[in-house]
Amino acid sequence: MKRFLCVLSLVLVCACLYAQDVKLTILHTNDIHGQMTPLDYVNKNFSMTNVGGAARRATLINTIRKETKNRVFLFDAGDISNRGQLVNFFAEPEIKVMNYMKYDLMTVGNNDLKLDEHLPNKSPEAVNILKKRISEANFPVISANVYDKITNKRSFTPYVIFKEKGVRIAVVGFTSLKCRNYVQTVNLTFTDPFEEMDRVLSELKGKYDFLIVLSHLGDLSDYVLASKYSEIGLIIEGDFHTFLEEAKFIPHGTPSNKYIGGTLIVQDGEFGVKLGKIDFTLSKSPDKSYKISKYDYKLIPITDKYQADKNVETILKVYFDQQKAK
Ligand SMILES: [Zn+2]
Repeated sequence: MKRFLCVLSLVLVCACLYAQDVKLTILHTNDIHGQMTPLDYVNKNFSMTNVGGAARRATLINTIRKETKNRVFLFDAGDISNRGQLVNFFAEPEIKVMNYMKYDLMTVGNNDLKLDEHLPNKSPEAVNILKKRISEANFPVISANVYDKITNKRSFTPYVIFKEKGVRIAVVGFTSLKCRNYVQTVNLTFTDPFEEMDRVLSELKGKYDFLIVLSHLGDLSDYVLASKYSEIGLIIEGDFHTFLEEAKFIPHGTPSNKYIGGTLIVQDGEFGVKLGKIDFTLSKSPDKSYKISKYDYKLIPITDKYQADKNVETILKVYFDQQKAK
């Protein structure tokens, strides 16, 4: 009997330890800027013909969701519109397509605050257009460092906490300080992201196990954030339109064979040419927070091997037809 109880408790201890690992997949985009259709893409590092397009992206995302056993999140790090084929609809088609793809979260990019940029008269009304778009979105649109000048309250939801197998994953949004100079944002205040991070950490104290920043601050600020705050496990960034083919790694303390011992930074370039995908395992650390113990990250080119999703084409056709009729 004694031996049986011993074996039983060993099994329970092992099961408990095993249960502490949580595997997740995050798919991510940034700086799509209203690029709805495939394009021939060229930058100083590579060129690709006939890549991207919202309809193919939807197919790739659905395929990954079907094939992946982990919970799959889909995030966008900002600048969904303000250029592109359907710019005259002020991000309405972008939000419709994102709803269809079941995005979980988006952060406010600097260009999302000036959806009227293509018009001759730009005005602070642009922020209300974004707020209308947010009301149409089936997912939260976050930023912690944007405040209303009159009420002194935050203009957007600052962060969201997801739960997966009992692990609380907090995602905080940040928006670039270059918005301070826009005609459209005269009624808003943009706070320093580092001061804001201190505030967010005190607000979230005891409420999360793993912290992600969905950032539209730009590369350098993200690097400083990652260096300064060991609490941040992952930064998914936008704004600089950089294709980070490998994750940047900012070390914190000594890595062990259990944890990578630092913060990862990932970014998916621009215009929906590729889709960011990070699969990772979270393991419980002695301080009871969760840290990344393993990861696999890549940017997947959205080529014509992914067939166009017919539902996305139908959503977009309405807008393309309206545009033609004008
Ligand atoms: Zn951008």
